[in-house]
Amino acid sequence: MITFVPQPHLLDSPRGREWPPAPAAGTRSPDTAPLPATADVAVVGAGPAGLAVASALWHLGVHDVVILDRGGRPCGRFFDRVDVLGQRVLRSPYEHHPGVEGYRDCELLDYARLHWSYLTPVERREIRMAQSGHRSVVPVDVFEAYCKHVAGLHHVDEKTWRATVREVRPTDDGVTLRGDGFAVKAAYTVLCLGEERRTAPAHWWDGDTTPRGVSYWDEPVPGEARRLVVVGAGLSAAHLIANALHDGKDVHWILRAPEERYQCADVNASFFRAEGRARFDGTSWDDRTALMRGHRRASVMFEFRPLLERAEADGRLTVHRGHEVTAVTPERAGRTAVRLADGAQVIGDHVVLALGTTVSNGDALLPAGVTADRDGWPDLDERTLSYRNAPRVFAVGAAAGMVLGPAARNIDGHRVATARVATAVAAHLEAASGPRRRTEDRVNAGV
Ligand SMILES: Cc1cc2nc3c(=O)[nH]c(=O)nc-3n(C[C@H](O)[C@H](O)[C@H](O)COP(=O)(O)OP(=O)(O)OC[C@H]3O[C@@H](n4cnc5c(N)ncnc54)[C@H](O)[C@@H]3O)c2cc1C
Repeated sequence: MITFVPQPHLLDSPRGREWPPAPAAGTRSPDTAPLPATADVAVVGAGPAGLAVASALWHLGVHDVVILDRGGRPCGRFFDRVDVLGQRVLRSPYEHHPGVEGYRDCELLDYARLHWSYLTPVERREIRMAQSGHRSVVPVDVFEAYCKHVAGLHHVDEKTWRATVREVRPTDDGVTLRGDGFAVKAAYTVLCLGEERRTAPAHWWDGDTTPRGVSYWDEPVPGEARRLVVVGAGLSAAHLIANALHDGKDVHWILRAPEERYQCADVNASFFRAEGRARFDGTSWDDRTALMRGHRRASVMFEFRPLLERAEADGRLTVHRGHEVTAVTPERAGRTAVRLADGAQVIGDHVVLALGTTVSNGDALLPAGVTADRDGWPDLDERTLSYRNAPRVFAVGAAAGMVLGPAARNIDGHRVATARVATAVAAHLEAASGPRRRTEDRVNAGV
């Protein structure tokens, strides 16, 4: 049998190309105009999930939308994270995009094909792979240009404000969002909060502050560190290792699992399809928990395999498999030791922790008890993804995991969640204030 192993050159797409300007882009800075005091819908978080929600609402004729985001830039945190890791291609294929399906919108693959002349021969080959139904690798650069296009086309930039929401207070007739110096009252609110990085267990070191010589995957790695220790088994760890090898560093990789896992995605591909999501429909909590545990595992894209195996074979990379970390402690001469459960230790000039992320389920913003979470998952209505204890508040993104399955946190999962949430919100608004004309119908009628 011939095994096809995708090669590392697929990971090397160029970043920072000049794309043609997105439609209506750059019309307003997120800081200048005052925040409206009221809106039909407030969206918290302008990541790929918030972008998908706002775009779908636009199509449904819901235009009075306010988007509040800490960074104030659509998809800003996503691109900051991939760029700090030097990630040049997405893990998800061309079919996964935050645009809106079922309308006359251009999808990610259409967008890439329209910009053929900007692409490298390798990138064009991946498009051909996608067109013929094979797994494809999407350049981060193309994805960013596409997100700007989607944001411009659906007036998302104009509706996005830089603001950190500190509390979300649902009442019978609306939801009030407050932050430093502002309050917005919206009829409905969609929480698209994404995920925060997972921090180290409290027993790894004394005190709350991260010790000197230790950082997390979403922070820059000091260039002067010659010996780097990376803890974690996922794609972020793989990027950190590949970057360090490229810079000629001596790299140690600590994995809790007995061996590294190479896969297309952390999630089994069936969970991106209806039959995979159906496994979460109406099944018991225990069954869903077991599915979530068993089917979402840290893994590395296939393309890294030849690169990491070669580095291990020639001694530039040392892999410590099957080791639980018990502590991280300072050593002499500014070095840091990672202590392992069997008593061994791995010493480096710098240690990077790539321990994954934790779901933001809304409990930091909503009144106590509203999320009614179980094992961290909020209690959501399965048809509409509204919080059962606050029907005017909805969740899109990782928080919908126990309804939509492990793909909820991925770009494709946002599309599925958005279809449910935007339809429900538009229907509620219509019921309250009469029928709305869908944007598509208005455009067709020349309004
Ligand atoms: C390095 C990396 C690579 C990834 N690659 C892929 C990939 O290739 N394909 C894929 O499908 N998925 C990928 N993922 C998963 C990815 O996280 C999601 O697809 C996507 O970023 C999630 O979008 P989101 O909008 O839910 O969250 P985010 O992108 O995190 O956006 C949430 C936004 O909400 C803001 N926010 C949160 N709380 C508040 C508040 N209280 N007030 C104001 N703003 C707030 C945040 O600052 C952020 O801007 C990747 C994840 C990482 C970390």
